[in-house]
Amino acid sequence: MDTSSPVVASAITLLRRDLYEHLDEVEFLALKYDSWSDVDIKTARAAIPDLVTVIRGVLVLHEAEDDGGKCRTCGEIWPCAALSTIHRLVKDPDREFVKILDRARGYE
Ligand SMILES: [Zn+2]
Repeated sequence: MDTSSPVVASAITLLRRDLYEHLDEVEFLALKYDSWSDVDIKTARAAIPDLVTVIRGVLVLHEAEDDGGKCRTCGEIWPCAALSTIHRLVKDPDREFVKILDRARGYE
């Protein structure tokens, strides 16, 4: 695909905007209530594995090539920026991914 084409560049911009708006709307809906109903809680519990699936999907794309030197998608020296960003966010002790594991392991 010729990404230098103005038509393709516009399509990429629209796709990116659509994804960001989709995520913004989901985040807004998750945060807008002071208290959650049973349905809200059930939905949140279902959303967590969905989010993990999304992260795994991105991680798979950014695995190292067989020789371990470069990302098979980016071509950057591994770990690439995408994988490093995911690692930083998923391992951030102030975020829930770490807190939920700490609670399960009895560290909290
Ligand atoms: Zn990559």
